[in-house]
Amino acid sequence: MEHQLVIYNTLSRQKETFVPHHAPHVGMYVCGPTVYGDAHLGHARPAITFDILFRYLKHLGYKVRYVRNITDVGHLEHDADDGEDKIAKKARLEELEPMEVVQFYLLRYQKAMEYLNVLPPSIEPHASGHIIEQIELVKQILDNGFAYESKGSVYFDVARYNKVHKYGVLSGRNLDDVLNTTRELDGQDEKRDPSDFALWKNAQPEHIMRWPSPWGNGFPGWHCECTAMGKKYLGESFDIHGGGMDLIFPHHECEIAQSVASQGHEMVRYWMHNNMITINGKKMGKSLGNFITLDEFFQGKHELLTQAYSPMTIRFFILQAHYRSTVDFSNEALQAAEKGLERLLEGLRNLENIVPSATTTGIQPQGLREKCTEAMNDDLNTPIVISHLFDATRMINTIVDKKATISAEDLEELKSVFHLFVFDLLGLTAQTENNAAREEAYGKVVDMLLEQRMQAKANKDWATSDKIRDHLAALGFEVKDTKDGFSWKLNK
Ligand code: ZN
Repeated sequence: MEHQLVIYNTLSRQKETFVPHHAPHVGMYVCGPTVYGDAHLGHARPAITFDILFRYLKHLGYKVRYVRNITDVGHLEHDADDGEDKIAKKARLEELEPMEVVQFYLLRYQKAMEYLNVLPPSIEPHASGHIIEQIELVKQILDNGFAYESKGSVYFDVARYNKVHKYGVLSGRNLDDVLNTTRELDGQDEKRDPSDFALWKNAQPEHIMRWPSPWGNGFPGWHCECTAMGKKYLGESFDIHGGGMDLIFPHHECEIAQSVASQGHEMVRYWMHNNMITINGKKMGKSLGNFITLDEFFQGKHELLTQAYSPMTIRFFILQAHYRSTVDFSNEALQAAEKGLERLLEGLRNLENIVPSATTTGIQPQGLREKCTEAMNDDLNTPIVISHLFDATRMINTIVDKKATISAEDLEELKSVFHLFVFDLLGLTAQTENNAAREEAYGKVVDMLLEQRMQAKANKDWATSDKIRDHLAALGFEVKDTKDGFSWKLNK
């Protein structure tokens, strides 16, 4: 495949020409969500970043197998080895089965991704569906002498590993730094060293997510799932592993150690990390009150938001920054993105209505495809792609203002480049309408009709009451009378 795609490899700390191991096949693994709450901006950024890479690699002609996992077990509070499982905690608080929590939030996550026009990955494996593979991984690491059993748990022996290989290659931390930053926590007495991390955890009696293993009933450590599932679906050596920068340490550092300790060599050839998102200059956090879910953005339902923002505005806003730069969300910045996207889409609409002339005069539209391609090849530089498209939009406006003309050939090329980059590669859609806001509004209209029906019933106006019910039934709404009013659902 002839291309000059260059990507920044976090491991080598430099830009490298992308050469797949087994072209035309490309294996790509991205750490997916821990499904115990609604998706927020922190989920949108890696999903969109690696969606761009997925789309671009396919455009270059590669056959991409894109794996994005679903973390549904083993991710403990504070990313520590002694916290409560995030999903089990939610299940306990809401009196649900853990898998009910997983299913509920997974569907909501996938819906949010669909609104953002993020293509579904090739495989979305669940950690809880790969316990056997994770136990196998732990056994190999134990057999190779890089782990030890302690009170029914298995820990990775960081010091032992560091004697043979180097621990900290990805994050650039040396073991002394790691030791100094590892907090003293309960359960540390099971470990030989505070920097050791859990491969398998013995389940306390109250722990509801548990599986049998050679070391007793327990559950896998969080880092195991990605190593085990990456290997299962992409092989012992695959091309790209991505995720947010916050995962570099400890998650991805531990993944590297697990691969090397189990199979003798690294599994990943290119590590890629997107930078983080801040809100009004501050890190997002539940305790800071600036934790805004994607749904809240789409519906404008958060005290920090002055309006609703469509999924395409969010997507465009994220793409206006390079994925390795930080992004700061504010109402002003989002409103600017909304206007920018509208300008681009207006340019596209104008493009469809332009009548070509015999020759191109007053503008120089040639070379746009090359310039946009060059920007994509330079580590997916989407802000530069967008700036070239804005330049082209200005040319389109000049033609519309009759200050320039364009030949049929140049016009066709311009249309083709716009469609390729705006729709296929940046994944923007012409629909700026806000689906989530529309669905919300239409639910309210149904509620309003049913409240009128209740009023009619109270007035013994049976004709009106029946009419409303029959009309809604004809549209596919199933209405039920309940003791405190009504409920409805749409049967499609
Ligand atoms: Zn992961």
